[in-house]
Amino acid sequence: MSTPAISVSSIRYSYGKQLAVDGISFDVSPGEIFGFLGPNGAGKSTTIKMLTGQLIPQDGSITILGMPVLGHNRDVHKRMGVCFEEKNLYLQMSAVENLKFFAGLHGIKDPDIKGLLQQVDLWNRAKDRVSSYSKGMRQRLMMARALINDPEVLFLDEPTDGLDPVSAKAIRDIIQKRASQGAAVLLTTHDMNEADKLSDRVAFINEGKFYAIDTPEHLKLLHGKRSATVRVKQGDEITELRIPLDEDVSGEGLKQAVGSGEVLTIHTEEATLEDIFIAMTGRGLQ
Ligand code: ATP
Repeated sequence: MSTPAISVSSIRYSYGKQLAVDGISFDVSPGEIFGFLGPNGAGKSTTIKMLTGQLIPQDGSITILGMPVLGHNRDVHKRMGVCFEEKNLYLQMSAVENLKFFAGLHGIKDPDIKGLLQQVDLWNRAKDRVSSYSKGMRQRLMMARALINDPEVLFLDEPTDGLDPVSAKAIRDIIQKRASQGAAVLLTTHDMNEADKLSDRVAFINEGKFYAIDTPEHLKLLHGKRSATVRVKQGDEITELRIPLDEDVSGEGLKQAVGSGEVLTIHTEEATLEDIFIAMTGRGLQ
């Protein structure tokens, strides 16, 4: 096992009386994509803020690249990339000007701005003001910004939230490429497909606590229940019946469904991460 790039032990944070993060612990290895999956208010952003030095944990400890983090740590910051909300961009400046500005903040003398903008497919709009960009384009620029210092650790808060499928895929490809080059990636999402597609391991978070940390495959294998959806025509009505497949009564249930009318389609489905999340936490992701 390699030394973790991110190591978190029992961190806690409350906003006044509102407990947001309740003693969570985890490690992320170099090259690993670690997904935080949880609904609104679960504590994802608060955790990322503690990891990136915007908030100081009230308890517990964080180590990034072997260095302790308690609030802002310049040596750690130089080696991390952060992608939060698009509001961190300067709208009156172009993409090139934004990236030059952020490179300057990091003390990077000769940033490969063309290479970065090509990577996020914005080179053809590089000189346009960011105020004329779509949400997806701004998000891609944020990603380029997060990569400007060639970070060993990447923190991404809902990186594809609200994006069209093409922009979302572009962002996912970049994340996977960076991880394959050795970066440790921590991302938050409330989208189970995103967590499933991207993460090597996923942590289920709800009310500031972890309910599971595992690979998506293992979670589905351990807790997932398969089901069959049978669409039948009964007279003029079309009905959809969902039959669980891993129960003693499954055979009988299927027989009844198939016999209840003219069968139009039968599909089998694996449990989704959301099904398992609901089973474990008692609440959904939306
Ligand atoms: P979202 O997906 O909506 O961003 P999240 O999982 O990132 O949710 P957090 O933003 O970390 O969740 O919020 C965790 C808890 O802390 C919630 O109960 C939230 O209301 C509360 N909280 C977050 N920020 C503040 C704040 N600045 N002041 C008071 N309470 C806050």
